[in-house]
Amino acid sequence: MVSKCPGQNTQFWGPGDIFTIECPKCGNGVEFFKDDIRRRCQSCSHMFINPRLNLGCAGWCQYADQCVGTIGKEELKDILTSAIKEYFQGDEEKIDHALKVLRFAEKILETEEGNPKVVISAAILYDIGIYEYEKDPERVHVSDQGGDGLSAVRGILERSGIREETREEICGIIAAHSYLHQTDFINSKIVYDAVQLADLSGPCEAEGKKGREKTIKKTFFTPTGKKMAEEIYYK
Ligand SMILES: [Zn+2]
Repeated sequence: MVSKCPGQNTQFWGPGDIFTIECPKCGNGVEFFKDDIRRRCQSCSHMFINPRLNLGCAGWCQYADQCVGTIGKEELKDILTSAIKEYFQGDEEKIDHALKVLRFAEKILETEEGNPKVVISAAILYDIGIYEYEKDPERVHVSDQGGDGLSAVRGILERSGIREETREEICGIIAAHSYLHQTDFINSKIVYDAVQLADLSGPCEAEGKKGREKTIKKTFFTPTGKKMAEEIYYK
């Protein structure tokens, strides 16, 4: 991991680009630069993610591959998990659901050949996208720059140093949630299956075993997702 971006000259940074964050374990102040992914607390040695991480420079920077290119899968997961916790602010149910989608997506990725960066990002951030749509379906369409109601998701992806074409693919998957039944792309298929798996784990007694069997038969896109659903929910 490169902890400092070689393309950024701190000479041009503003006062908000270096800041102190309280250690979530002991409360000690820990100084962060905006492009530090994580730092260790000097007092209790707890290592934690920079909650105000901003790798926005990576979208255009010539050094992005040396810098953000080295962000591993675990790191990306940590960064996006921290972003979703920040967004849903203590709403444990929503946070749990998003993390559940992530776990299912990773499990499916073990067998299906998707792009981990795209699938993992879309899986974690999926619920933020849906929440934004549900919050205000009308306004979201008019005011959003990307035109698809996903400005919150875009902002997080940008700060996480994800390149534009990848950001677009991730947003495309989330934006297409309302016409779920048609997709030819494996990354979308994996994400949608992970969402279905997470949703099925909620209470739906009324549906009964027969109904559930039917749902599983018709909702899943990947053989792995379908098999997992049968194993977990239809025994
Ligand atoms: Zn500490």
